[in-house]
Amino acid sequence: MDRSTSSQLHQEANRHLVGGVNSPVRAFKSVHGDPIYFNRASGAIVEDADGNSLVDFVQSWGPLVHGHAHPEIIKSISEVMAKGTSFGAPHIGEIELAKRVKERFPSIDLVRFVSSGTEAVMSAVRLARGYTGRDAIVKFEGCYHGHVDSLMVKSGSGLATFGISSSPGIPDATSGTTIVLPLDDEGALEYVFNDNGENIAAVIIEPLPANNGLLIQRKEFLEKLRSLCDEYGSLLIFDEVISGFRFPVGGYAGHIGIEPDITTLGKVIGGGLPVGAYGASREIMSVLSPMGPVYQAGTLSGNPLAMAAGVATIDLLDDDAYEFLEGLGSLLEREVGSVLEKHSFPMRLVRIGSLFWLSPGPGELPRRSDEIPDNGSKLYADVHLGLLQRGYMMAPSSYEIGFLSTSHNEEHVIGLAKALDGVLRDLGDLL
Ligand SMILES: *Cc1c(COP(=O)(O)O)cnc(C)c1O
Repeated sequence: MDRSTSSQLHQEANRHLVGGVNSPVRAFKSVHGDPIYFNRASGAIVEDADGNSLVDFVQSWGPLVHGHAHPEIIKSISEVMAKGTSFGAPHIGEIELAKRVKERFPSIDLVRFVSSGTEAVMSAVRLARGYTGRDAIVKFEGCYHGHVDSLMVKSGSGLATFGISSSPGIPDATSGTTIVLPLDDEGALEYVFNDNGENIAAVIIEPLPANNGLLIQRKEFLEKLRSLCDEYGSLLIFDEVISGFRFPVGGYAGHIGIEPDITTLGKVIGGGLPVGAYGASREIMSVLSPMGPVYQAGTLSGNPLAMAAGVATIDLLDDDAYEFLEGLGSLLEREVGSVLEKHSFPMRLVRIGSLFWLSPGPGELPRRSDEIPDNGSKLYADVHLGLLQRGYMMAPSSYEIGFLSTSHNEEHVIGLAKALDGVLRDLGDLL
């Protein structure tokens, strides 16, 4: 498959954009070759700059639960766009999307829209601190919450100690407000709450960690988290930017039956346009400006095009859509799973609903980031390239998950499994 146009464009982009990209993972640093430039996309298929068609299992990293350029979503956006692209004033679209969020997230009375997942999380953390009057935040190794300063933190020397920045540019004073714990460890949770519980404003977690592989947690662990937050008056923030709207009941919170205090949303909620949101009970949300003293604002927040895309996306997510996605997901699990097994390839398919991950290594499925074997990236890079050559696009990193959309069909899924069969046969000759 010729990709020379993409490679040429990447050379040119390198002269104008940092590393040629606007978000680092797009640069293909952990897989082979140059980034692929897209011309257009429709449904499950993207067309690259060289005119190749690829079946896309990245789907813009999650937002496109109905695939690319869904006609009804495009129609909604176009109709609204003709009446103006931004008002900076209230409009009915904001009410419409807020109602839909509340229908699916019963723990939310009031919503605030922002323009990205990062912004939602950053604001939710400020809200939690403002509401509780406390500073400390607990987060988990292996969870991603966007590039929020106080959450770009890794664990320090001991369990109860505050974290250290995971990127230059973040002052120690900022990372020093965050405690980082391992996932799947009730003992560590108890230890930290016993030690410091009165100072903890909030615990933030992806209840379904999906940015460092797919690390499905035990329900008991999340229940322990809920009860410790209650005991110490700390708020529980579920970051559902990736998991939100991927379950018939709304979020992963509904799927497992645990209510957070604050929920952050993004990705699917904007159906491909930039939207983030956070919401909670009226009591918590009313400390937010203009009702209360905690400030948060946005010139393009509640943008009419973005609200329209979100409304159209959620309205298409009915019971049939979820049933379809579940059916496709279980087909993928069977087909890809049996190919991996047939070749005794050291990878397993982890899948929940429409989200999936090629988990490296044999043995137990990982629940913590340090349980993921680190030789997985090398194997994945070869698999990634082989699949691309056969017309199937997976995320350019072994730590990123795959996404099914309502625009995928059985042919796409079976095709992926067949392509993988070919890739592993060829790799087997090399191993
Ligand atoms: C993607 C993601 C974010 C960041 O959202 P952006 O829109 O990329 O800023 C935050 N939290 C989780 C769980 C995510 O998956």
